[in-house]
Amino acid sequence: MATILDGKAHADRMLEVVRQGVEGRLAQGLRAPALAVVLVGDDPASQVYVRNKSAACAKVGITSLEHKLAADTPQADLDALIDQLNADSGVDGILVQLPLPQGLDSKRALHRISPAKDVDGFHPVNQGLLLEGLPGLRPCTPTACMSLLAHHGVALKGIRAVVLGRSEIVGKPMALMLLEQHATVTIAHSRTKDLAAVCREADLLVAAVGRPGLVEGSWIKPGAVVVDVGINRVEDEAQGALIFAAEPKKLETLRAKGGVLCGDVRFGEAMEVASAVTPVPGGVGPLTIAGLLSNTLVAANQKV
Ligand code: NDP
Repeated sequence: MATILDGKAHADRMLEVVRQGVEGRLAQGLRAPALAVVLVGDDPASQVYVRNKSAACAKVGITSLEHKLAADTPQADLDALIDQLNADSGVDGILVQLPLPQGLDSKRALHRISPAKDVDGFHPVNQGLLLEGLPGLRPCTPTACMSLLAHHGVALKGIRAVVLGRSEIVGKPMALMLLEQHATVTIAHSRTKDLAAVCREADLLVAAVGRPGLVEGSWIKPGAVVVDVGINRVEDEAQGALIFAAEPKKLETLRAKGGVLCGDVRFGEAMEVASAVTPVPGGVGPLTIAGLLSNTLVAANQKV
């Protein structure tokens, strides 16, 4: 039976480091770091994420500044708000919550954020620094995954790592970070031939796809470490019966509540083959917010 890599516990450890960093700033007479969160429209999932971020900020002493804009906000107004936040010396980090409503260009918004305040690490300058292996604000999810692996002593040098997914937010930066730690990295995606065989080569498998239960137990090399970034909601009972064949409790929850959260990996099956697995929920999700707050502290300290 595999070990469960508890993301919540590691997120708490990361948040404690941030809290101490904030305390250290206050002891030096500096102000608390401030994170501005821009929420456009009324997407329910985004509202939950923003609320969770504010609550996490409060826990560690970071000031959270929320800017809510209507769904029909013109791009020029969003640009103007970002310009205003870029110029505000009382703001250390800026986060534009994605996805933006239709009609707004998220790349344009993300590229407008000052790289020094880009706590999501999505700006091309920060992505470029990562590519060069230089310090900068790095994307929160892969950074936090790397921190989790380091905490659990997962050796990366020379191993075969497979990253499933090639987004700028997770897949590509994760692959670069693993490469930086001397893993031999394969990036797989929707056009990869014989995905199962590619995954089976992995000593470390990172799934960031957004397809519930795509990775079956038989895709996992015995003893591999599995990091499941995917967050999916399954409501269909027939699909649930397939994905949760080795997780009867999850299937019960689906039936009782009409839906259940799961990752890209069939957790119950992975537990029987892998040496360590992150659960969903309670794995990578809480780590991402911790990574964001770490970046906010770094951004604030860079200005000193
Ligand atoms: P994207 O949709 O941007 O990227 C998905 C990637 O998966 C693409 O590269 C796509 O390939 C690939 N893909 C899609 N379907 C398949 C398939 N059937 N076989 C192989 N590859 C496939 O997603 P994100 O990277 O933004 O997010 C991925 C998942 O991680 C989502 O579930 C998201 O909710 C979750 N997430 C979780 C976070 C957390 O905090 N835990 C943070 C961020 C994301 P191609 O490029 O060829 O289209």
